[in-house]
Amino acid sequence: MPELPEVQTIVSDLNKKIIGRRIVGVWFDWPKMLKDPLDQQRNKIAHKHVAEFKKAIKGKKIIKVIRRAKNILIYLSDDLMMLIHLKMTGHLLVGKWRVKSAKRKEVVVPLEPKEAVEDPYNQYIHLIFYLDDGKMLGYSDVRKFGKAILGTREQIENLPELKKLGPEPLDASFKFIKFAKLIKSEERKIKQVLMDPEVIAGIGNIYSDDILWKAKVHPLKPANKLDRKELKALWKSMREILAKAVKLRGTSTSDYRDTAGKKGEYTEERLVYQREDEPCDRCGTKIKRIAVGGRSAHFCPACQRL
Ligand SMILES: [Zn+2]
Repeated sequence: MPELPEVQTIVSDLNKKIIGRRIVGVWFDWPKMLKDPLDQQRNKIAHKHVAEFKKAIKGKKIIKVIRRAKNILIYLSDDLMMLIHLKMTGHLLVGKWRVKSAKRKEVVVPLEPKEAVEDPYNQYIHLIFYLDDGKMLGYSDVRKFGKAILGTREQIENLPELKKLGPEPLDASFKFIKFAKLIKSEERKIKQVLMDPEVIAGIGNIYSDDILWKAKVHPLKPANKLDRKELKALWKSMREILAKAVKLRGTSTSDYRDTAGKKGEYTEERLVYQREDEPCDRCGTKIKRIAVGGRSAHFCPACQRL
């Protein structure tokens, strides 16, 4: 699942590629992706909603794109805003596609960029925004869990899923003292706490594993049992690893790609995530994988002790 560094990479790309463009048309083959800002369960009226969505977004200018946790927020003219959540396997591409009809269904033919034509992970296009410069913004999603919500700025900014988010781990205003307080108030296992967006926003399975390894903290350790030295190490490791992953444009161990359809370079820099049975970079012990609350954690049993 795309985490902070992957979503940030997409958002930074979009700010370079689509700001100031107008949306001149929309195509999609998966109406359920579109959610109502006031009632996300209203799937029954998906077809009516599709018509409303197309009408509302046509002609709108793209003003800015920001990230909040793992959400992409696209500010549009006329006080509109669109939230896109990539969920498990979604990503956005800037390129060109041709939609052709073939035996009762429509087929999306990728034209550019090169990676969208060559890499199968870029070919699950379910939504295309046509822009006024001839380019297109396409949404690719293998497993179709992602969602898009269009509403007024006020409606989107007040969505409960945005309201309840914890602080951004890379924000300058987020200080160690606040981090330590948040962690110390939790009885759950530290791995689960790091991945809870309501505690700290944007960290998932990949980066929580690497952050814990670097800080030499066992993933199953109760958060409130961490001493000051461990909290300091965890704080430092969180900032360093996330900043490095943003710089390297994310991780593509699975289907994540950037807006040019390219893989992230943090994939090669992973410390423990999905490196089960490989030697620990610090001590050579085999990396272990264990289950933690329905997810998995990778760690070094020698460096990270309970
Ligand atoms: Zn080790």
